[in-house]
Amino acid sequence: MIFTKTFKFRLRPNRKVKNLFAQFAGACRWVYNMALNQRNKLWEEENRSTTLFDQNNQLVLLKNEETTSWLKEIHSQVLQQALDDLNKAFDHFFRRVKNKEIPGYPHFRCRGEHGSFRYPQGVKVRKDCVWLPKIGWVRFRKSREMEGKIKQTIVIKEGKYWYVCFSCEIEKEGIEAKEEDVIGIDVGLEHFATIANDQEIEEVGSPCFFRGGLSKIRYLSRRVSKKQTRSRNRLKAKEKLNAEHAKIRNQRKDWLHKLSTHLVKSHDKIVVESLKVKELLEKAPKYLARAISDAGWREFLLMLKYKCEERGKKFLEAGDYFPSTKQCYKCKKINEMPLHIREYSCSCGYRIHRDHNAALNLKAVGTTV
Ligand SMILES: [Zn+2]
Repeated sequence: MIFTKTFKFRLRPNRKVKNLFAQFAGACRWVYNMALNQRNKLWEEENRSTTLFDQNNQLVLLKNEETTSWLKEIHSQVLQQALDDLNKAFDHFFRRVKNKEIPGYPHFRCRGEHGSFRYPQGVKVRKDCVWLPKIGWVRFRKSREMEGKIKQTIVIKEGKYWYVCFSCEIEKEGIEAKEEDVIGIDVGLEHFATIANDQEIEEVGSPCFFRGGLSKIRYLSRRVSKKQTRSRNRLKAKEKLNAEHAKIRNQRKDWLHKLSTHLVKSHDKIVVESLKVKELLEKAPKYLARAISDAGWREFLLMLKYKCEERGKKFLEAGDYFPSTKQCYKCKKINEMPLHIREYSCSCGYRIHRDHNAALNLKAVGTTV
């Protein structure tokens, strides 16, 4: 079985390298925006589209023009990846249009957004140093050992720091999963997760990192909006805001990693309702949406999934149409359950917290399949 795993480390660039990073990320942004602009114009004026192949060829021409010859200083594959990103963004856009979802047209990348660039190949790692083509050896804080073969490398700025992410392909022999210990997990707003195992039901409280940092985020984003557009000060304020976002994101991620690792280590089979939290987000009113994205359910479920695969444990999605919330755990009758009703009570006399009922139903799926 082959799966990919990402290893992320904080880089330790000196001033010169930092400048190169900014230059590379800036060039990618420029190429992306240029290509997007071109696509927009072609569509408006001639009602036609272009291809990744054509845009790549144009990039070569641009390098030979005097005003844009600075592009030569950037590694060519890194720039091609920016075009590839745009192409993918359009693919996703067209797919969503076709599926009648919210389309989300690709937008221009602005300065102060997370700068990043990507190498499809050519990167080497030796001890705690990484070789980035056209940049050189850069040290990073090696917090753990890497496994597998590096498939692509992303250098990204989050807040104040630059990070390197290696996506590695790992091959492992499939381990036969034991199916003795099954748990059902229901995610919700009241409790981040409700977990049913053989003996008991456990509630895991919602982490409030986001809400905790929210007042600071509000304060910082107000500061951004008060600064003049395109000014140096605005950029600085934006960087501070990004740093705060990054901090909260890291705290949340850390917490989710700990919880998911614990669950995967101590159980053999995990059943969840569905990974499609996205749709829930779109339908939910705004304040709910914040609480949901805050809670990071999707991230959590994805972590559970890949950690199960890694350890040869079973991960099961009950599916979108499985009525885990509506069904009575005891008599299997379906009762309508609007979101504000917190207690499940069935005509058969069974009464239980709605999230407990859902978690028990999910666990039951795991024991019957
Ligand atoms: Zn019942």
